[in-house]
Amino acid sequence: MLSRAKIRQFFFGKRSVSQKRWRQRLPGIYVFNYHRIGDARFSEFDPNVFSCTAEQFEQHLLFYKQEFEVLDEASLIALLDSGEAIDKPYALITFDDGYIDSYQHAFPLLVKHKLSAVFFVVTEYTNGGIFAWWDEVAWLVKHCQSSSLKLNHWSSAVDLSGKNQTQNIRKLLYAFKEDHSFSMEEKLEMLKAECKAPPMPSSHSVFANWPQLKEMVDGGMTIGSHTRSHPILAHLSLEQQREELTQSRDFIASKLNTSVSMLAYPVGRTDSFTEQTQALAKECGYRLAFSFMNGINAQLDGHSAYQLKRISVDGNKSVDSLKVQVMELNSKHRA
Ligand SMILES: [Zn+2]
Repeated sequence: MLSRAKIRQFFFGKRSVSQKRWRQRLPGIYVFNYHRIGDARFSEFDPNVFSCTAEQFEQHLLFYKQEFEVLDEASLIALLDSGEAIDKPYALITFDDGYIDSYQHAFPLLVKHKLSAVFFVVTEYTNGGIFAWWDEVAWLVKHCQSSSLKLNHWSSAVDLSGKNQTQNIRKLLYAFKEDHSFSMEEKLEMLKAECKAPPMPSSHSVFANWPQLKEMVDGGMTIGSHTRSHPILAHLSLEQQREELTQSRDFIASKLNTSVSMLAYPVGRTDSFTEQTQALAKECGYRLAFSFMNGINAQLDGHSAYQLKRISVDGNKSVDSLKVQVMELNSKHRA
């Protein structure tokens, strides 16, 4: 059976955005978010966190430069402090998790095109020697000796027999995120016992380190906090949340000799942070905090500044597809 998208494509041809519609897009801050830059097929870890290749990223940069007023940290904070209504489309480029490819691929291209971006780092990862839990889960799926996985307290098993390994990883990660009964570390230990996979390659560093981040700051980039250990903040006590926000902030500030004004909530869904988390972010001195909720920021004030929406760039999108994504969001906002 043909999917709706295929039927639409058959009747209306390749999806694209007319110049007229594009010119009418809403004023607002469009925050484009990336994770990894590179070719997911060659990764030993989670392929789902790859946004696009370096070539595609460069095309995206040219597109932002031509079609938006691209903000950096200083101009974004000036816009917040001005209290003025947002009267045109602005773009902000952000990266989550601080992978090594932020330094290797994104940073040189941003410098080449005289643009700045905000890189949200997890300070425990930046110190080296630790893998992100989703990368560990992906490694386990890739090396697992059974075709399904079930932790003792799960009501059903996750089927891993499908040929598409990216899909298998996504399924197990979903089950992992939905399970609130144990900490990430505890669940990982249980999963390792079930999988009997070889240990993770210990010397393999996938995250940017402090000297690399320092070079990025000196090159005009901004480093923000993505907490100390990437927990789902809403699952923590207020005191634990405070520790995550303050320790990561202080660590970045001392290692990079810079102030830290921006935070990105790990996972960033509506249920990943609370009103209390937002108040805490403000109390800890952050000026802006980003969610992973899909949308355009039509206004910027003391309240919206702690729940900024972002546009996830993923799936190796061309500029045309990115434009379609932007216009779909415009339609949603107008509805
Ligand atoms: Zn993250």
